[in-house]
Amino acid sequence: MRRIVRPWAVCLAAAAGLLVGAAQVRGQSNPAGGAAAPGRAVTQGTQAPASVTYVGNSGFLIRAGGKTILIDALFDGFPGGYLVPAAVREPLLAGQSPFDGIDLILATHDHADHFSAAAVRQALASNPRAAFVGPAATVAALTELGDRARALEVAEDRRVSVEVGGIRVEGMRLSHGTPPPGQSDIVNLGYLVTVGGLKFFHTGDIDYQIVTPALLESLGIPGEHVDVAFVPHFYLSGPGPIPFVTEGIRPRYVVPSHLQYTDTPVNEAQIRRNFPNAVLLRTEGESWAVPSLSGP
Ligand SMILES: [Zn+2]
Repeated sequence: MRRIVRPWAVCLAAAAGLLVGAAQVRGQSNPAGGAAAPGRAVTQGTQAPASVTYVGNSGFLIRAGGKTILIDALFDGFPGGYLVPAAVREPLLAGQSPFDGIDLILATHDHADHFSAAAVRQALASNPRAAFVGPAATVAALTELGDRARALEVAEDRRVSVEVGGIRVEGMRLSHGTPPPGQSDIVNLGYLVTVGGLKFFHTGDIDYQIVTPALLESLGIPGEHVDVAFVPHFYLSGPGPIPFVTEGIRPRYVVPSHLQYTDTPVNEAQIRRNFPNAVLLRTEGESWAVPSLSGP
């Protein structure tokens, strides 16, 4: 297998943004693995089916239960590097179809291929009911937004939950990797989002040698019956299925993420061999209707 790209090698370390932002969302802190595991009944009624739309890199739009969520979808990338195509980026920032009606914007960490304060600011202006939630380093650049930009503070080995407009978000520290000497650590939050009776799990950038199945087990993730997990593609195309996913997350479907900003090409054939439940969204703006639990 190709060398697995270390997140530190593909993401520029952000400036040491350790300032605590405006409103701290402390939420309800659950003991590791002690979170309630609600039943799996899907109660979407007559609402449109849940869907996932690929925005770019690790960025996705989720629609479920009448709610709309962006995760890691508002970023500028690195100078001279990949950009989200204008045909997607412009309506995304303007709050126009198919990216209209955003309720919640999440960012996993303060790296330029996952988060842009300017883009979040613009999207919040275009979506009056939307709120932003992210680690403190992201909110530090958005203090003028008050309660609309909330820092989620999470201790190691804990899950912290917050409810935003009927969307349940649980954040947990998933290591971005050991920083090189002299560089500060980066807080990466994995998110478990429960909405419309479905569970979505986004890892952000992780080092799978630190975020082991045992660690995910201690956080109670395998018992959550995750419906859709977003996982960096280069962890899915090894010589076989990686236990980080098969034992640690156990999702109904896995959606490869981080399709840009790595030196590892997307190996679609190997991903499909390893994960027959993989859903590859390769083109920005491409959508997938999440099959209901009772069948497609
Ligand atoms: Zn990163």
